[in-house]
Amino acid sequence: MLTLGQVRGQARVVELLQRALASGRVAQAYLFAGPQGCGKHSTGLALAKALNCLRHPNQGCDSCDACSKIDQGIHPDVRTLETQGAQARIPIETIRKEVIPALAMPPHEARARVFLIEEAGSMAGPAANALLKTLEEPPPRTHFILGSVAPVRLLPTIRSRCQRVNFQALPADLAASLRGDEDTADDIRNLCDAMLAASEGRGLVNILDAAKSASERATLLGALEQYAQHCHLAARRSIEIGASDNAKAYAGRALSALETLVAVRDHNAHGQLAVEHLLVATRGLAVKPVVSA
Ligand SMILES: [Zn+2]
Repeated sequence: MLTLGQVRGQARVVELLQRALASGRVAQAYLFAGPQGCGKHSTGLALAKALNCLRHPNQGCDSCDACSKIDQGIHPDVRTLETQGAQARIPIETIRKEVIPALAMPPHEARARVFLIEEAGSMAGPAANALLKTLEEPPPRTHFILGSVAPVRLLPTIRSRCQRVNFQALPADLAASLRGDEDTADDIRNLCDAMLAASEGRGLVNILDAAKSASERATLLGALEQYAQHCHLAARRSIEIGASDNAKAYAGRALSALETLVAVRDHNAHGQLAVEHLLVATRGLAVKPVVSA
């Protein structure tokens, strides 16, 4: 597991949290916003370690009693609220039984008690309302870290009570290497190669083949994001060289890729079907390759 200083690809976030630790002004409620797989939850755990580390306070280590317990998920004061059921929701009972009673007492052994929610959007309405009351006035030495891929879908009152921290989307192969999964990294590279080739006029159907062979949803998401970025860049280069029709076609492809990404990521659209829709949507958007700057 990571310490804050080992979090990769989120330099601004790490700097912000390290400053807060150094000044003793760590917020009692954070909203970590960013796409799936960008390290929100592991950063939250790293912050919990920094708050509680017995060896290197404000930094965290991998060996003291507090950090070890946090890494193993057995620290009594650092809890990740679990989702339940097929819909992966956090029910109101979890807030009523696991959060509210704990807050009536000081932490068992931690300097700072931390509750983490990997996806705040997974709280059912009543659960969100129950948590809201707590977020209005958290007891001392208590922190909430809410993650979200789509903060706009959370209750505005929840958002307003949290300090928002924006995470960057990670380049796809960095995301894969963070998960330590070499096969996935290869999948992503292959998929990206296919997508880039497709965008240079060889037919988006290559993406579909790649999507079929992609072993994980995250793989497809990473590739879609990279493809969207590529098309966006190509659109800008086309504008620079006065090729406005090409720019429009690339911009259209970028938009379609982003829409597909959102459909798969936030609305659980079936990956392969979503890519088939992408193929249809972009069929009329023929592009000419743009020479790299
Ligand atoms: Zn430690």
